[in-house]
Amino acid sequence: MIPPGETIGILGGGQLGRMLALAAAQLGYRCHVFAPERDSIAADVCAEFTCAAWDDRKALETFAKSCAVVTYEFENVPVEPLAAVKVAAPLHPPRRALEIAQDRFTEKRYAEDLGGVPVAFAPVGTVADLRHALGRIGLPGILKTRRDGYDGKGQQRIADDVAAHDAMHAFAGHPAIYEAFVEFEAEFSVILVRGADGDIRFWDSAENVHARGILSRSTVPASPLVQSQIADARGLATRVAEALSYVGVLTLEFFATPLGPLFNEMAPRVHNSGHWTIEGALTSQFENHIRAICGLPLGDTSLACKGVVMDNLIGDAAHDWAQILSDPANHLHLYGKAAVRPGRKMGHVTRLLL
Ligand code: AMP
Repeated sequence: MIPPGETIGILGGGQLGRMLALAAAQLGYRCHVFAPERDSIAADVCAEFTCAAWDDRKALETFAKSCAVVTYEFENVPVEPLAAVKVAAPLHPPRRALEIAQDRFTEKRYAEDLGGVPVAFAPVGTVADLRHALGRIGLPGILKTRRDGYDGKGQQRIADDVAAHDAMHAFAGHPAIYEAFVEFEAEFSVILVRGADGDIRFWDSAENVHARGILSRSTVPASPLVQSQIADARGLATRVAEALSYVGVLTLEFFATPLGPLFNEMAPRVHNSGHWTIEGALTSQFENHIRAICGLPLGDTSLACKGVVMDNLIGDAAHDWAQILSDPANHLHLYGKAAVRPGRKMGHVTRLLL
């Protein structure tokens, strides 16, 4: 067990790290952020900050030596240099979880091997592969880079052969996957925390609405259709967590279809669709992640109210902070990002149904 007062290392300097650090501070821990960018909104609320490149092994090792445990908030941390971290401090969740989640093909295969049902998919490296995938899966579909895509980046919808041809040229040299375009009824996420002793707890599943590939709103409770598919989805999430001897918060995202839940992707970390848990659950995803990686008993994940709606503040929407605050029921979170950019997550607002 890592007692309060110790230092927790966080790889990645964004809003997830910031909210993890705030939860860690509440429990009496110090945090040390490692991130390559100078402006880190996580480092702004932490005791220590190492600004260095992801492949700077010396810096990673020195960083890890200053920490009792290391975690990550950014999914695209290069896995290979993390060997230097593991020598100096325990790393949770495991490196293998990152490795799987970083590659859209590997993660879908992994879920399939554990009995999950992913969207129809095929790896695409060449024009011939794409032709083959189109023949097997059909149109419409989505071509996605296997790596480094997030919030809808690195994706292109394909409605016809001309679009397929154009997309292949745009993706040239980037390994990709082709997926069937799913006419889903709804999207939802399953978020669990697994403690060092194997104890697993779930939060209520949020129904999620995306706009241009970016999460826009999460609502709890989810609709009856989603509710009817949660047990299945939780089963897969449990098998993933157990197979990986996972410690910390794990998220799986699904499409709810009339035929059952289709697995979309997993994130080995706290998740945007769980931000509502800060006010809406008895213990937030951030606090339970800290508890898990430090070997503390997990907190109760039950809903603290009748329901919750969480809206992301994307780009200019963050300028409305004064108006948002004029309603005393709104819980406003701003991430402290200096520059507003279209499509950038600037904050979120949570409202509880009491
Ligand atoms: P992703 O980065 O794969 O999570 O995609 C972001 C969002 O794009 C998803 O949450 C969906 O709203 C949409 N999307 C991604 N893949 C598909 C698909 N195969 N069919 C329909 N919508 C999709």
